[in-house]
Amino acid sequence: MIARQPANWLLHATPARGLAQHLPPPTPTIPLVCFTSALLLSLQALPTNAETAYSVKTAGAPPQELIIALTLPSNEGQVRKLAVRGTAWGLESQVHSLRCGKTPLRQDAAGSWVAPGSCHMVTWHVSAKRVRDGAVDVSKQASLLFENPRWFLLSEPTSLLRLVGDSRQSTLTVSAGSLQSIDLGATPAGKGRWRVPSTNNAPEFYVIGNIKPRTRSIGPFQVRYVADNPGRVDRLGLEAIHERALQYLVRVLPPPAALPIDERMLLVVWIGTDDRHGRAGGSAGSRSFVANYVFGRAETEALNAARTLTILAHEQFHQLSDLLRGSLQPFPVWLGESLAQYYGLKALAQASSGPAATSVRANFIDPTRPVNFGLVELNRRHAAKDPSAYRLFYEQGATFWAALDTAVLARSGGTRSLDSLIPELLRSNPTEDGKLPAEFIDKLRLEIGSQTDELLSKYVGD
Ligand SMILES: [Zn+2]
Repeated sequence: MIARQPANWLLHATPARGLAQHLPPPTPTIPLVCFTSALLLSLQALPTNAETAYSVKTAGAPPQELIIALTLPSNEGQVRKLAVRGTAWGLESQVHSLRCGKTPLRQDAAGSWVAPGSCHMVTWHVSAKRVRDGAVDVSKQASLLFENPRWFLLSEPTSLLRLVGDSRQSTLTVSAGSLQSIDLGATPAGKGRWRVPSTNNAPEFYVIGNIKPRTRSIGPFQVRYVADNPGRVDRLGLEAIHERALQYLVRVLPPPAALPIDERMLLVVWIGTDDRHGRAGGSAGSRSFVANYVFGRAETEALNAARTLTILAHEQFHQLSDLLRGSLQPFPVWLGESLAQYYGLKALAQASSGPAATSVRANFIDPTRPVNFGLVELNRRHAAKDPSAYRLFYEQGATFWAALDTAVLARSGGTRSLDSLIPELLRSNPTEDGKLPAEFIDKLRLEIGSQTDELLSKYVGD
């Protein structure tokens, strides 16, 4: 019998536009941002600003740091601001030694600098955090330096300065210098360049260094995997776990058939966390995501695999749902997070019905847990920086979706489930008041009658 685990091992971070989120205590607060509210550029042909471009090179022998140059468009002599967008979400800037030519730029706030009107190119250094094996919480979205082999994970939200007021996407090129190796982004942008997403979209991650990705075709996607420890990732069978989760979720949320091939490339970066740390997270970008996998003692292997699959499937749900949402306005945080968590757990249930999977599921889905506030009220509290609300999106929210799913299955005699209603929900506009869209509620009433209103009243409220 596997003991029930505290639910706080799951830290999730997907980037949002200006939303800082915190998974609650008991342990020190870890900044989280969520891309529930990010608009994916997926199907929009956003213009690339040809005048703004990033180039990255390594510094030191062996390489210790990244040096990044950004060319700026002409601006008729106006002063401009450059900022790391992750600071608005509670993340820590990793930029230092910012200069225009030889002149240091003035910093006017955390992660924010002022560039004189005459400046057309700025350079800065990024001090990537050196990785101690098993001790990285990826929800902090830091740029990282791995050794043996040596490679960098470059995190856009903490390490790339963005031109304030210019939301357009850009491009990034890498010269790895003495690393003489690959550079890898999520989405190619032609001529050896990678896309840097619009600031309206979820951020992106890049891999630079002596490391080879492995590639798998899964459904409509081509997935490139990079791991901190490929042998350990193999032993844990993580690629197969991800493949199962992705295949299941693609059946629920098939991407648009006309999606161009470059938009169907995903980058998955695995970084292990030792289960004695008790924390693991994920961070989903628009086409790349970084996920903690849990490793440790042999006796907890099944539980670690169940936790890892849940994190992966949660992040993967976000990416697929944003592919469907395209440029629609973001859903409230409660809705995006609770659905991602429920489908993370549902993917887990598809893969395993063993005691570890049951234990992880029970950490979140618990119909006997008291409900003190509806999810809409919790969303308001979360927006007002109440740190206790976010966890309930995972727990109360997943419990709500599980109750709906069970009701639809029961009423239809097992022929239908929540899966058949979710794609249409994801293609709808959010409501002003943070509740579920009226058309979706009507559909639910057709499926499960008055149970709809009972469940809405208990879990969602107003
Ligand atoms: Zn999430």
